[in-house]
Amino acid sequence: MGPDGKSRCRWCNAAPEFLDYHDTEWGFPVSNDRRLFEKLSLEGFQSGLSWRTILAKRENFRAAFHDFDFDRIARFTQRDLDRLLKDAGIVRHRGKIAAVVNNAQRARELVEREGSLAAFIWRYEPDQKQLAKPQTVSTSAESLALSKDLKKLGWKFVGPTTMYAFMQAMGLINDHVADCVIRSKIESARKRFKRPGGCHRTRSMKKYCRGRACPTRYLYRARHASPLHHSGMDAIQFSPATGIWPASNEKAP
Ligand SMILES: [Zn+2]
Repeated sequence: MGPDGKSRCRWCNAAPEFLDYHDTEWGFPVSNDRRLFEKLSLEGFQSGLSWRTILAKRENFRAAFHDFDFDRIARFTQRDLDRLLKDAGIVRHRGKIAAVVNNAQRARELVEREGSLAAFIWRYEPDQKQLAKPQTVSTSAESLALSKDLKKLGWKFVGPTTMYAFMQAMGLINDHVADCVIRSKIESARKRFKRPGGCHRTRSMKKYCRGRACPTRYLYRARHASPLHHSGMDAIQFSPATGIWPASNEKAP
C-alpha cells in the first residue's frame, strides 16, 4: 500500500526510499548500456548486504565509478583502486571493486562483438507466457543461462540469483504482483520498448551488413527459434552457450 492508498508489492514498504524506486524504476525496461552495467555492478556490491544499503550509497557509487562509464572503468589503474578503497561513501570491498574493473573490461569486449551490452542481455528475455507467479522464485532457466554465459566470458559476481534480481529490475521480467498498481504501467512500457539488438554495423533490424559475423542472425534464431534469415548460414558455427561467434568468423567479409 502506498500513500495514495493503492495496492503495491509488499517489499516497497520495507524502507521509505523504496517507494520511489519501486514506482519509477523497478521493472521498467532498460536498454541503456551504462545503466545495465551500473545495475550489474551494484548487484555485485550488494552480495551479502541489503539493497537498501546499496541504494542509499548509489549516488556515491556513481561519482566514484564515473557514472559507470565502463570504457573509463576498464582503464582504472592501481591509483584508482587505492582511491576507491579509501572512499567511505561506497562499499570498500577489494574483491568487489576489482570485479567491477574486470567486468568493465569484459563489457567492452561484449560491445565489440555484439554492438552493445543491451543486445546481449536482452537475448535472455524469457518467454512471458512461461513465467513463474510474481515474486515466488529467485532464479529461472534464463537467469541460470545468463549467469553461466557471463561467467564463461570471465565476468565476476554474476550468480544466477543475482542475475534474476537484475532481470527483474531491468524489466526483462514484469515481476510486480498481480494487484500492484505499477504492474500495468510496466506492461505498457514493455509493449512500447524497442528491443535492442539489430545488426552490429547498421544498428538496424531492417538493414543488415550481411557479414558472416552479423549477430542479428543469431538474435533471430534465439528469439524466434526459426531458421536464420540469411542464406548460406548452415556451415557457420557459433557457441550455443554464449551465442558468440568463434574468433575466425568475427570479421565480416
Ligand atoms: Zn509492484
